[in-house]
Amino acid sequence: MSITKKTKLLIIGSGPAGYTAALYAARANLDPIIITGLNQGGQLMNTTEIENWPTAYVNTSGADLMDLFLLNVKKFNTEIILDNIVNANLSRRPFVLTGDSGTDYICQSVIIATGSSPKKLGIKSEDKFLGKGVSYCATCDGMFYKNKDVIIVGGGNTAIEDALYLSNICQNVTLVHRHEKFRAEPILLDRINNKARKKTISIKTFFTLSKIEGDKDKVTNVVLSNSKNGSSENIRTDGIFIAIGHNPNTNIFNGLMKTEEGYIITQKNDKNFQTMTSIEGVFAAGDVQDNIYRQAITSSGTGCMAALDAQRWLEKNEV
Ligand code: FAD
Ligand code: NAP
Repeated sequence: MSITKKTKLLIIGSGPAGYTAALYAARANLDPIIITGLNQGGQLMNTTEIENWPTAYVNTSGADLMDLFLLNVKKFNTEIILDNIVNANLSRRPFVLTGDSGTDYICQSVIIATGSSPKKLGIKSEDKFLGKGVSYCATCDGMFYKNKDVIIVGGGNTAIEDALYLSNICQNVTLVHRHEKFRAEPILLDRINNKARKKTISIKTFFTLSKIEGDKDKVTNVVLSNSKNGSSENIRTDGIFIAIGHNPNTNIFNGLMKTEEGYIITQKNDKNFQTMTSIEGVFAAGDVQDNIYRQAITSSGTGCMAALDAQRWLEKNEV
């Protein structure tokens, strides 16, 4: 017999969006349930220093920040459940969402705050060398490459931060980007250019990673292709950090609601419920509905909006 849990509001995800939604919903006496997912605390658990969270004045790691979010959620009445939602039946109310624990969560409203996951390059050898030299998380795996040579692929904030971080650990750090122009913030670009001038990081623009080579245990080389002149280079390396952006975690909602390139569409122009999805009573917050800003503070902000919207929607529908 499957276990069931009932709530007025189910929050899926425990990143900045989910935790903020829980804080607001609990303070509105909704007694929400939050399902943490496999990565409790979300993406920031895998990053070192957070500089752009407005109150993070002195060294604050992503994990420290998310611990504070959790402490605040625990102050109010939220049930925190370590489970991962694997199925969603949103065709009628009450909604039924099922966790991989087998529990059915029966609820009147839902906030989806499932965030995003790292993109893959999609080349053949990428999966073969996962954990044997290929990584998507410099903070998690950087220490395995102490005094070794690494390559970082990407041109956004994550790639630049990864390169800066790894330059304090590794012997040779090469940043590979497919264009000349980087998406990363100017302050990070200043830092990396400074390191490049001092030759502690090499930057290779107009290159893509076309092949990863190695023996049965580990990566040994990569082939880089130049997108300008078609030439290629074979470079020795011990590790490859892929930081080319993220995909929204919406697989379980595919076909159930309106999405665009995987991102959930919310009613941004609706006067009353801007965070409502195309399904009445289902709201979305954070990176899962945002392909532009994707910051901790914007995720938190939309988490707050979704909880306030859910509260008003439940009142309006007298649930
Ligand atoms: P996430 O943080 O992605 O959290 C998603 C949550 O959903 C997780 O708890 C996960 O377990 C859960 N989940 C997923 N699927 C399911 C499921 N099926 N069932 C249940 N739960 C599920 N932003 C900044 O503002 N400042 C920074 O310094 C910064 N640094 C970053 C560094 C790195 C390396 C990366 C990758 C991102 C960084 N960002 C930073 C961006 C920031 O982390 C994200 O914008 C933010 O975490 C998004 O919050 P979120 O709550 O929407 O989702
Ligand atoms: P991003 O901003 O989407 O950048 C991805 C980068 O990877 C781009 O430079 C892109 O190149 C490149 N790329 C994409 N697909 C590629 C492919 N197949 N092959 C080679 N290169 C590819 O992703 P992100 O850096 O992970 O950042 C995600 C979000 O988190 C952003 O909103 C960012 O601001 C935020 N974040 C913030 C901080 C911070 O505030 N300190 C730190 C990390 C992340 P093109 O430019 O050519 O498309």
